[in-house]
Amino acid sequence: MTASKHVYGIGIGSNRVHPRHGRPAAVVEAAIARLARDHELFDASPILLNPAFGGAGRDFANAAAIVESDLEPEAMLASLKFIEHEFGRRPGKAWGPRVLDLDILAWDGGDYHGRALTIPHAALGERASALVPLAQIAPDWRITGGLALRHLAARLRRARRKN
Ligand code: ADP
Ligand code: MG
Repeated sequence: MTASKHVYGIGIGSNRVHPRHGRPAAVVEAAIARLARDHELFDASPILLNPAFGGAGRDFANAAAIVESDLEPEAMLASLKFIEHEFGRRPGKAWGPRVLDLDILAWDGGDYHGRALTIPHAALGERASALVPLAQIAPDWRITGGLALRHLAARLRRARRKN
């Protein structure tokens, strides 16, 4: 067996009920299984629930996965968008409720800047919903040769406490 060319850290999120899969945590679970059909799934984090603020709206469910793939970044993004679409997501407001959000959080190729794709994900360092699950499964990963993910996560926790 030959090893795949690349390793990707994928962020998975949902805050809407899916007609078949059900609540957001079940959507995330189904999305992980779906990712494993197209890509070599190396590991997946537990699913984290982040309560919606003020009791309004639906809770967010988030997880992260490590996948191995021969796809280059733009092709990987296209494959994630295909799965989002399969789950019923349609292009719309970036911050609106979404049944499934799949992001490329990191890969093993360093900094990548395409027309509509930036890796590492621009919000990785400040979004606990993305960083915490990825740091759980890849604590020692130094994404751009800087701090290990577990240190980035610790730094974010500290910053939160100060706010
Ligand atoms: P977000 O994930 O930031 O909440 P969207 O899922 O609506 O918002 O993404 C909007 C656009 O962000 C995507 O169409 C994609 O082209 C772009 N994008 C840039 N960098 C990334 C990345 N690392 N992973 C996923 N999408 C990205
Ligand atoms: Mg996205």
